[in-house]
Amino acid sequence: MTRTAIVTGAARGIGAATARRLAAAGHAVAVLDLDAAACADTVAAIEADGRVARAVGADVSDAAAVASAVAEITADLGAPTILVNNAGIIRDNLLFKMSEDDWDAVLRVHLRGAFLMTQAVQAHMVDAGWGRIVNLSSTSALGNRGQANYAAAKAGMQGFTKTLAIELGRYGVTANAVAPGFIQTDMTRATAERLGVPFEDFVAAMAKEIPVGRGGTPDDVAAAVAFFVGDDAGFISGQVLYVAGGPKA
Ligand code: NAP
Repeated sequence: MTRTAIVTGAARGIGAATARRLAAAGHAVAVLDLDAAACADTVAAIEADGRVARAVGADVSDAAAVASAVAEITADLGAPTILVNNAGIIRDNLLFKMSEDDWDAVLRVHLRGAFLMTQAVQAHMVDAGWGRIVNLSSTSALGNRGQANYAAAKAGMQGFTKTLAIELGRYGVTANAVAPGFIQTDMTRATAERLGVPFEDFVAAMAKEIPVGRGGTPDDVAAAVAFFVGDDAGFISGQVLYVAGGPKA
């Protein structure tokens, strides 16, 4: 069945791969990011496959922008019943050097952003008696040096997900979290730059620590998101799936 999906932070990286994957499954996809123009490549790739996508510009942490984006998507593509809260940023630093701004910025995008987007979309899911929410967590939720803000946000995403599962299950809505490990995107490229390591060397070093012997790709994560979105995943809710090339607790 064709449905309307919103993928946030979908201009690039994991969000772009997820948008393409959900479009390939037949869904009309709102490719949402801070700057609508930055979504052009993702939308073009989907349209080249004969599928439907729209670029939408919005800051997920801005309530008014979220409300107008969801209204625009509903008018243009139909009521959204699939939401992937993927937009994210990092502002890494050791705790003693972390600024209040860097703490606030990270929690604002991940947690406030997911809250606002989910609150704006849930009524459409409840009306339809069907919905799928997938939130991007991270292995950093288990703790990661230099990421007190990001780890707190990504652990928060797991508690948020489980609560959505409990509150919305009776309306046919599932909520699950995908928690990637090391994925090769601009986000991890920025980490390598900050550490002063060439990205290829960074990837090789990370791969040595990963049981399957390689870094992850955005498509690896998109496959897990697509699984939770599927019609046949309706009895799976409130779960956290680590997509990390090995076990995580
Ligand atoms: P990415 O390449 O940096 O892409 C993130 C996208 O989110 C960017 O297009 C960014 O836009 C957008 N964005 C940032 N703030 C936003 C806001 N306030 N409103 C709307 N869009 C916003 O990141 P990625 O590696 O694909 O990561 C995607 C998600 O997976 C994130 O939640 C991340 O935390 C999570 N994750 C990634 C990894 C990894 O190894 N890469 C591992 C675990 C979890 P701009 O370009 O304009 O900033």
